Amino acid sequence: MSNVRTRFAPSPTGFLHVGGIRTALFAWLVARQNDGQFVLRLEDTDKKREVAGADKHLMESLKVLGLDYDEGPDKNGNFGPYRQSERLDVYNKWAQKLIDEGRAYADPYSPEEVQAFRDEAKKNKQPFLYRNHRPDNPPKWDGTKPLRFKSDPKTYKWHDEVMGELSTGPEVIDDFVLMKTDGYPTYNFSHIVDDAEMEITHVIRSQEFIASVPNYLNLYEALRLDRPILATVPSVMALEGTKKLSKRDGAKDVLDYVRDGYLPEALVSFLATLGWNDGTEQEVFTIDELIEKFSLDRIQKSGARFDERRLLWVNGHFIRQITLNDLYDKVENYWPKEAKDADDEYKKRVLSIVQERLKYFSELPELTQFFFMDLPINPELISSNKKLKKLSNEELKILLEATVSKLEKSDFSVNDLKEKLNELLEETDTKPAVLFSLVRIAITQTPASPGLADTLNVLGKEKSISRIAKQIQALS
Ligand code: GLU
Repeated sequence: MSNVRTRFAPSPTGFLHVGGIRTALFAWLVARQNDGQFVLRLEDTDKKREVAGADKHLMESLKVLGLDYDEGPDKNGNFGPYRQSERLDVYNKWAQKLIDEGRAYADPYSPEEVQAFRDEAKKNKQPFLYRNHRPDNPPKWDGTKPLRFKSDPKTYKWHDEVMGELSTGPEVIDDFVLMKTDGYPTYNFSHIVDDAEMEITHVIRSQEFIASVPNYLNLYEALRLDRPILATVPSVMALEGTKKLSKRDGAKDVLDYVRDGYLPEALVSFLATLGWNDGTEQEVFTIDELIEKFSLDRIQKSGARFDERRLLWVNGHFIRQITLNDLYDKVENYWPKEAKDADDEYKKRVLSIVQERLKYFSELPELTQFFFMDLPINPELISSNKKLKKLSNEELKILLEATVSKLEKSDFSVNDLKEKLNELLEETDTKPAVLFSLVRIAITQTPASPGLADTLNVLGKEKSISRIAKQIQALS
């Protein structure tokens, strides 16, 4: 293929959730792997549904994920403008061409008359087709009536890069509206014209448009345009049930995820593998790997399920890959407020031992607060622990007292701590699940923490011992 040009053509009608932006990612990947161009076109022809600020939000979401576009509303190119509301002359030009060739007509009917046609078809158990009611002498089109396409019903067979070979009969072809009475084109008309004018080679879009494709094929013919390569991306589904993913299923905005401390590269990998794989077992991909390996024909035909737990896992994977210094810079704004006066070196040591468990940056306070302050004694941590709740307070105290005497002899290096803790297990004849859980609770007052020796090492001798002493006191 000579020069590949793909586009993302959102309507600024709201905030794109993560599922929605996956279509943009696929189109971006096809452009990048072919050294082509990726175009952002804002389809703002439905003024009633437009949401103020949605355009900026969309552009920011793409940028945050690294889906840079070569041409768009805020990026000059040779095919602009890239906002449909600024292209009305283009649609009027193509509409006139269709009128001149007898392939479009002003629709003379009132909504009530059209409804009467529908009711009649329903009564006769016939599908409603507008073309059965084409007016004999339509008025001249002056913009006060909708402009309709005069279709040429026929059978179509076409190839969809994802769905494979498709075919439909003439019954699905009908006269659809090209221009509305508010002066704006319909999506059905404008996207065909714009894709042609902008020399788009691949139309990669979501599933909701597939039923209309035969009508689009009909219009391409009437306009004598070559049709682009078509690829239909199945919907992203909620984890349970049969519904498309929505905000109610917890599908957040991309920018929300980024604010919560998800890495753009993790979001990209996760989104790419929502319904796509490379044919191997590989589960996470770098952007370069995706550019190399992505192909439209390996997108699965059925809807992919959005599983936020998998996103957490993927993000954790990417967090573990970055260097400590890099991670330290990235989490700068996520520390608990108690860390305000802590020095860089201490915070870095804390980070080095939680990096393994960190799944997104916003959970940093929860995971690290105890490194910066003494949390109050929480008796429930012991009473809800399967093993510890079987021991009496007296028994627990004896274990903690033995721990204090042992730790007093340690130099608090990780190696020495490990050694001392193992000696302690032997000397007290207890299992790690008992002794280590107990010590962990005493020094952190949280249910989970990094490895015990690492945690003791970072907290230091004085703080560790004083916290264990406090726990002993609480048990007395
Ligand atoms: N404006 C349409 C939408 O937001 C674009 C569909 C397409 O990619 O052609 O759904």
